[in-house]
Amino acid sequence: MTARTMRIPIEDLDAMPRGCAWQGCTAHYQGDMPTGWVSLTTYWSPQPILDWKEMMRSAHVYRDAVLCPDHNRQLENLLKALR
Ligand SMILES: [Zn+2]
Repeated sequence: MTARTMRIPIEDLDAMPRGCAWQGCTAHYQGDMPTGWVSLTTYWSPQPILDWKEMMRSAHVYRDAVLCPDHNRQLENLLKALR
């Protein structure tokens, strides 16, 4: 996999539609995230990072994406239960 780092002004980022990261899904939204959608961020760091801004600056972020409600449920069904 090849990754590319891009710096985008926050105003431009906010104006862009955000699409569900699930392969084949065309669901998307623009503006504030609708209820039921979730952010999906994966990163590597030797220790957990609790501050989001710190994570974006220092960690190796592999993915910063969103999932629609249907695919959030599908992902949750693939993962171990939280309790
Ligand atoms: Zn989706």
